[in-house]
Amino acid sequence: MDETVTIIGGGIAGASVAYHLSEHTEASITVFERNAIGAETTARSTAVFRQMGDSELDPMKRYAMRLYNEFLADPRATPRYDPIGRLELATDDEHAAPLRAAEPSVGAYVEGEELAAITPVPELETDAVTGALYDPNAGIFSPVELTHEFVERARENGVEFLSNTEVTDIETDDGGVTAVRTVSERHPTTRVVCAAGPWNLALGRLVGLELPLRHTLAPIARLEPTEALPHPLPNIKHGASGYYFLGQPDGTVLVGHSPGSYADAGTEYDPETVPETVPEEVRSGMTDAIERFLPSLLDAEIVEEWVGVRSLTPDGHPIVGPTAVDGFSIVAFNSEGIQLAPATGRVIAANVADETQPGYAEAVSPARFDGDWTGE
Ligand SMILES: Cc1cc2nc3c(=O)[nH]c(=O)nc-3n(C[C@H](O)[C@H](O)[C@H](O)COP(=O)(O)OP(=O)(O)OC[C@H]3O[C@@H](n4cnc5c(N)ncnc54)[C@H](O)[C@@H]3O)c2cc1C
Repeated sequence: MDETVTIIGGGIAGASVAYHLSEHTEASITVFERNAIGAETTARSTAVFRQMGDSELDPMKRYAMRLYNEFLADPRATPRYDPIGRLELATDDEHAAPLRAAEPSVGAYVEGEELAAITPVPELETDAVTGALYDPNAGIFSPVELTHEFVERARENGVEFLSNTEVTDIETDDGGVTAVRTVSERHPTTRVVCAAGPWNLALGRLVGLELPLRHTLAPIARLEPTEALPHPLPNIKHGASGYYFLGQPDGTVLVGHSPGSYADAGTEYDPETVPETVPEEVRSGMTDAIERFLPSLLDAEIVEEWVGVRSLTPDGHPIVGPTAVDGFSIVAFNSEGIQLAPATGRVIAANVADETQPGYAEAVSPARFDGDWTGE
């Protein structure tokens, strides 16, 4: 039988999977997106790309940087990269230790006068900081531009993208997928790749899987400084509190809160229960962080705000590959989806095309959970 692949979700994950599958297989590929392409978590992301550490996921990030560089070098492509730099702040010795240890692979650890001299942030209240890991090469992409570049390339290879088309059910027979349903049609398929971001949880249940994913809210406010900053503000993150700042190409500054770990996460959200504005306790935490680190922004006006949902996994690695349900694969992130989407597309394509898997496939495989979440 001819291979028919249905991808659920047109965020950066679904778009990357579509592109990689179209490069490696002859399958007939359709992407179902209930909203507009790239309009959910991907559009709410800050899309910071930072230097590699020693993590097992670094080869995945290196693959992404190679592919994104190819996009940047293509005169027909729109993605751009702003190398604004990154400072990870420690305000006590306990949090300074891992930053020191990350030097030199992730940047330079700086403190005291050196911190004031080396950082391009005269606004930073350096007295409040014990030390910082400074990575001048970190920067930001536009996540929506990257997604559209994958979509363009996949379309040229014959992939069909259906926006505003929600998958409402997934049919199985004898332990394998046979079709997906929308409100108006039944779409027979030999494979489903579920790339629905935080909503993978609900879709997994349609085939009897209880995926090991949890949700956490990621609120962001956009500040307009009363006086234009003389330079784009780098990404400044205070790991201990989870608050961060990020300069934007238009001169505004994003202030956000990066949530905690899988163990801390509890509530499961659906699109209707996600707040539209920054929750009150986070808003006051943002004010505290501004007062503490960047007091010159205290008078800045909030001109926009939104709340994204991040999915988290038990071990911090994404979950990518085939599951115990025949023909049903999953692409789910522990955040970091902008940096990891290219490599996850490659893993899925190698699996469908029956090619040699990249070395990192095992570290992200659903099989590492021994099937104890599959309902078996
Ligand atoms: C505030 C914030 C900051 C972030 N910062 C970074 C960062 O700096 N670097 C980084 O690498 N990552 C970052 N991330 C994480 C990154 O944005 C995500 O991991 C990534 O965007 C997830 O992409 P996705 O395609 O899996 O999900 P999504 O973009 O959510 O795409 C899934 C799509 O599936 C669709 N869908 C859901 N259900 C159905 C259905 N039944 N039928 C059809 N379609 C359906 C949705 O409409 C959605 O468009 C951040 C995330 C947030 C929220």
